[in-house]
Amino acid sequence: MITLGIESSCDETGLALYCSERGLLANALFSQVDLHALYGGVVPELASRDHVRRLVPLTRQVCQEAGIPITAIDGVAYTAGPGLAGALLTGAMMARGLAWALQRPALGVHHLEGHVLAPMLEPDAPEFPFVCLLVSGGHTQLIHVAAPGQYELLGESVDDAAGEAFDKTAKMLGLSYPGGPALSRLAESGDASQVKLPRPMLDRPDLDFSFSGLKTAAITRYKAFMATEPASTVAIDAFRANLAASFEQAVVDVLIGKSRRALAKTGLSRLVISGGVSANSQLRKAADELTAEGYRVFYPRLEFCTDNGAMIALAGAQRLQRGESTDLAVSVKPRWPLDSLMA
Ligand code: ATP
Ligand code: MG
Ligand code: FE
Repeated sequence: MITLGIESSCDETGLALYCSERGLLANALFSQVDLHALYGGVVPELASRDHVRRLVPLTRQVCQEAGIPITAIDGVAYTAGPGLAGALLTGAMMARGLAWALQRPALGVHHLEGHVLAPMLEPDAPEFPFVCLLVSGGHTQLIHVAAPGQYELLGESVDDAAGEAFDKTAKMLGLSYPGGPALSRLAESGDASQVKLPRPMLDRPDLDFSFSGLKTAAITRYKAFMATEPASTVAIDAFRANLAASFEQAVVDVLIGKSRRALAKTGLSRLVISGGVSANSQLRKAADELTAEGYRVFYPRLEFCTDNGAMIALAGAQRLQRGESTDLAVSVKPRWPLDSLMA
C-alpha cells in the first residue's frame, strides 16, 4: 500500500511516498527558512502562500523519484494539526482534493505522532513500548508510547519549548533564524564552565520542564556583560561562545535528567528522542550515558528530526491500514493534544 504524506504545519513543505511493504520510496522538502529569516520568525500568511506554490510541484517530484504514476497512490495522509491554521489548510485541501480525484481515502494525521514514529523509518526501528522525549520548536514532552496510537503524556514544558528557548536565546545573541543549529555551532568553541546557568526543575520529582527562566537568565547574563565590561571584540566573542555552550549544556542536562527519570518511573528500557532538537549533537552525546547505563536510545536520521513528509506518510500509512479515514469535510486543528488520540 502506497501512502502520500503531506506536511505543511509550519514553514516546511514536505512530501513523501511510503510503501507499507517496501518502506520509503521518495521524499522531498522545501524549507521556507530564507523567506522568514528576514523577519526573524515565521510569518503565517507568507508560509501559507508559499505552501500553495510548492505542493503540486513537490507531489510531481516524489512520484517521479519513486517512478510511479500518481494513480498508484492508495491513500493520502496530511498533517491536520497542531500548527498554523492557514498553513495546515493548504496541505489539507491539497490532500482532500487529490484523494477525491483519485477516489482514495484521505486521513488527517497528528503532527506529533509523525515526530514520535519518525525513528520507525530507520532500519534499526524501536520496538514498542518506549518512552519518547519529543523536543521540537513548539513542544517538549515525555510520552509513554505503548503502541502506535497509544500515547500517554508523562510530562511537558510548562512554558517555552526547548527549541523555542534555543531560537529566542540565539536571536538575542544576534544569530540568524532559526537559531537552534546556529547557537549549537557557536557553542562548539565555548567553555560552558565559564558561565553558570540554572537547571530549571531538574531537582523536582515530576517530569515537567521549564525553559523560559533559563532563556531569561542567559539574556540577563549577556546584557550584564555587555553593560559592565569595556570588553574587546575578542572578549565579547569568547563570552558569547561560553554563554551558548552553557545554555546548551543546561538544556541537555535537564532533558537527559528527566528522560532518565521517565525511564526509571515507567520501568521501560527504550528511549526515542525525536523532533528538531533531537538533531543536536550535544544532546546525542549526553544520551550515550543512558546507553552506557543499559538503555537503548533511538533517533530519526538527521533530516527527519525536523519537519518532513516522510514521518506523516508513515504515521498515516499505519492508520490507513487499520481502515481509518477522514470524511470529505476539511477541518484542521491548530491546537490538538496528542493524548486525545487515545479517546
Ligand atoms: P512542533 O513540531 O512542536 O510543531 P516545529 O515543527 O516548529 O514544532 P521542528 O521542525 O520539529 O519544530 O524543530 C524545529 C526546532 O528544532 C527549532 O526550534 C530549531 O531551532 C530546533 N533545532 C534544529 N536543529 C537543532 C540543533 N542542532 N540544536 C538545537 N536545536 C535545533
Ligand atoms: Mg520548521
Ligand atoms: Fe515539527
